[in-house]
Amino acid sequence: MTTTAPIENLLTPFMLETGHVRGRIVRMGAVAHTILARYDYPPPVVKLLGELVVMAAMLSSSLKQEGVFTIQIRGRGLIPLIVVDAVYGGAVRGYAEVSAEYADAINALPNPTPRAMVGADGYLAITLDAGADMQRYQGIVALEGDSIADALTHYFTLSQQLDVQVHLAVSDTAPWFAAGVMIERMPETSATTSEENHEAWRYAQAITGTIKADELLDPLLDAPALLYRLFHEEGVRVYPAHPLSVGCRCSRERIEAMLMSMSAIDRADMVVDGAASVHCQFCNKAELFTPSELGLSVS
Ligand SMILES: [Zn+2]
Repeated sequence: MTTTAPIENLLTPFMLETGHVRGRIVRMGAVAHTILARYDYPPPVVKLLGELVVMAAMLSSSLKQEGVFTIQIRGRGLIPLIVVDAVYGGAVRGYAEVSAEYADAINALPNPTPRAMVGADGYLAITLDAGADMQRYQGIVALEGDSIADALTHYFTLSQQLDVQVHLAVSDTAPWFAAGVMIERMPETSATTSEENHEAWRYAQAITGTIKADELLDPLLDAPALLYRLFHEEGVRVYPAHPLSVGCRCSRERIEAMLMSMSAIDRADMVVDGAASVHCQFCNKAELFTPSELGLSVS
């Protein structure tokens, strides 16, 4: 890509005219870049984390007020943990835990699949926290396939009994762009035959499979134009886009409240070199508190 136009941070829902398939497109410029540039990640980790951030953003559109979707990948390989989450309204955050000593090993992987990086025992967990009075739901699947899109497709098929197809893309160089499309087969209704539904799904799968990463990441091709290019034969209804943003729920007030809920002895133990430091891994930022701010007498 040679253009310098900014890619917008948007989630665009759509539905194919026949009503059998719906989908969403997520495209993120500054939002993806902000999250992916917070640490000096090896390139394969940027790709993996960027894809997961796109997926979290996609899931945010099915949330009701106060809900949080969290995707975690855990294993005992070179990357022990990746966490991304999204809240109602489209604020996303995420980070990967990568120790500097493994960076070379990750870069040297001939085929850096999620499984190769996270380990053969790696798994993917998606948690829906629907709000204070609602039940928490978690689904877990082994990290299957060569890509995170494969693993997510596997997750939805196995854990949710949904037919979905996911494609994800992250730019090769900074500034980072990340994008993705997900289609979902709608349930059959009495008005349509199962044959029609099946046909429409096969068609949408085949067309979606032709999307290239360059198209998803092209800032000059907006989502409606891309959708029209793909589905103009069948017809596609494009709904208003939702804005996406970077959001973390850490705040100085919240951290201070957490510290003040600890005993004075524990608070005092946290003071090193004249201050207690609490690090937010999502923001890669530390909040410092002096002993007097923590209600400790300075001796
Ligand atoms: Zn934070």
